This record gives sequence, C-alpha cells and structure tokens, in this order.
Amino acid sequence: MNLCDCHCHTERSDCAEDVTLQWYAEIARNTSAVFAITDHSAHIYYPQGAKWAFWTDEAREVFDEHQQWGDAQLDWYIADVRAAQAGGMLLGIELDVFLDGTPVCNEDRLGDFDILLGAAHTFPALQHDAEPHQVETELKVMIQRLAAWEIDVLAHPFRPLRLKNYAISDDLIEWVVDFAGEHDIALEINSHSICRDEDICMARLAYEQGVAVAVGTDSHRKAEFGDFSYHCEVADAIGVAASELYWRPTPAAMQAAK
Ligand SMILES: [Zn+2]
Ligand SMILES: [Zn+2]
Repeated sequence: MNLCDCHCHTERSDCAEDVTLQWYAEIARNTSAVFAITDHSAHIYYPQGAKWAFWTDEAREVFDEHQQWGDAQLDWYIADVRAAQAGGMLLGIELDVFLDGTPVCNEDRLGDFDILLGAAHTFPALQHDAEPHQVETELKVMIQRLAAWEIDVLAHPFRPLRLKNYAISDDLIEWVVDFAGEHDIALEINSHSICRDEDICMARLAYEQGVAVAVGTDSHRKAEFGDFSYHCEVADAIGVAASELYWRPTPAAMQAAK
C-alpha cells in the first residue's frame, strides 16, 4: 500500500542515526515510495555544540546570534534536497516556532517547501514543569502559532506532553481535532514514539469529522522507514482501511516535487 510518509529525517537532524539524504534519494529513484524529507528546523539553525539550545532557556539568544548563519544553512538544505529529489520524494521541514510565533526558519522561504510539518517540541511551561493547565494553554498557543505559518501537518501533537508525563485529556484531543479541521491541517500518527490511546482517539474523531490524518514514521533509523504497521494498527482500531484514513499531498505538491 502506497501511503505517503510525511516525516523523515536525514543526517542534518542531530538525533538521526544511520539515515542519509543519499540513501533516501536512492530509494526515491528505485521505488514508488512517496515520502517527505523533513529535518528539524532547529537543528538546521543551531550550530554544532548548541544543536539542542532550542530546548533550553538560551533558545532565543542563540537563535538571534546565529540567524544569518542559519539562513545560509537553510538555503543549503533546500538546495541539497532539491538536487537529490526524484520519484516520490518531497521537500519538507519540521518547523519549530517560539511561543511568540517567531519561526525558527527564514519566513521568506516557508513557501518553498512541498510540505510543511509543524511541531511544538518545547515551550517555556513544558521546560519549567509548570502546572498542567498552563502547559495545556501554551501547547494550544504553540499550535495556533504553527497554524499561522500555514503548516500542512501537525507532527506528533501529544508527544511533548507525554514525554513529561502530563495527562492528555479528551477535551484537549477534541480541541486539537476541531482546530485542525478549522485550519485545514492534517494530524499526524507518528510511529517513532507512540501515543497509542491518544492516537486512536484522535484518529477516530478526525475521521468522523472529516479532518485529515497523516502518516509519519519520523524515521531516524533506516529500520523505521517504510514500516507502516503502527499506522495500519490505528486504522484497524477505528475500523477504517488505512488507504481511506490517511491523507496524501495534493497532486500540485507532487508536481512541484518533480
Ligand atoms: Zn518532532
Ligand atoms: Zn521528527
């Protein structure tokens, strides 16, 4: 089944293991796989030795200091992926934003991607282990900020809370699905770190409400790429065929990739 994997990392993401752009390029040339290269914008913009500074209180300071350098790195990323592109490979990015909405990316280039993935990886309330209601409030603000940049897909909506052991309420899941529907955003089922109960609840609500659901393997390792077993399991759990449940990019995006 040819699902579209909206979320794949290369060596440009600091947490990637054995995946490389050249490895994906070869797959794109030799198979009918449809997938997007989506490296972390924070890993493109933050320099060696400070790759994880976005996840700290120094995030803004380090970003401001290296912004020009980061813009050049971004240009290089876009040029490299475009040069490697073949078959069903799309150029994307996993976009980070600050709580005030500033993208960790040159905003003039956001329109250059075939697919824009947004993630609320971290924000102040989460970093400081704030009260649950404050964490939830800031998560909603982060999602609104990402929507303002017209992301196509919201990556792993609940992972940041799950990693810090915050409860994820049904109300929050409902809010996310409603919001995604209003803003035409696909919600990702992510198999790299699994939030099974929340994913099934989200996928069911989204399907019922006609909100798009996207496949993301979030591949950091070669072994993760092309493995849609979890995505099929979620589709099974809500009683829908995976090919019917999951979103695919528009023909226009696919055309742009060619
Ligand atoms: Zn992510
Ligand atoms: Zn990712």
